[in-house]
Amino acid sequence: MTDSSGYDYDPKTDTVRVGRHDLARLLLQFRTELEANAGPDDRWRHMHDYDLSFERLADAVDSGNKPGTEPDMWMRCKRTPAYEWPDLAPYRNGQGSGTHPARIGKYGTHYVLYSSPSGRSLCGIIFMNSEAKKTTGAPTCTACVRELELMCAIPAPEESPAP
Ligand SMILES: [Zn+2]
Repeated sequence: MTDSSGYDYDPKTDTVRVGRHDLARLLLQFRTELEANAGPDDRWRHMHDYDLSFERLADAVDSGNKPGTEPDMWMRCKRTPAYEWPDLAPYRNGQGSGTHPARIGKYGTHYVLYSSPSGRSLCGIIFMNSEAKKTTGAPTCTACVRELELMCAIPAPEESPAP
């Protein structure tokens, strides 16, 4: 749907439609800037969080690939100091350990991490442990499946010696 301004914007879903090529170029440039300026004087410091939004945009670019094609890792967060990953398993050790498929109330099935008294899905849902029921098989949430796949595909950084 194109609104009266001529841009492809859907007010019902607050979604803007952009070209895949333009989005891919933007993501690659952002990653380049972010990683080139990592350090104490980093002007991108405010963007150093683990950013689900950028991973979702990379998912959108990858969605145009042929089925079975590997994700374009250039557009993904790396395990470098340029990114701040959650200090939780599976992010801490990079092996995907500590996750379980579970149904979270009415939100479908996700990979979840349990910590007392609440938990968190890999796609970012915070829940009370009483709301989640363990299931089997891969979750229906594509973001959770992507997170675990990336976790296993991106090598963990070398451990730095304690100061
Ligand atoms: Zn999820």
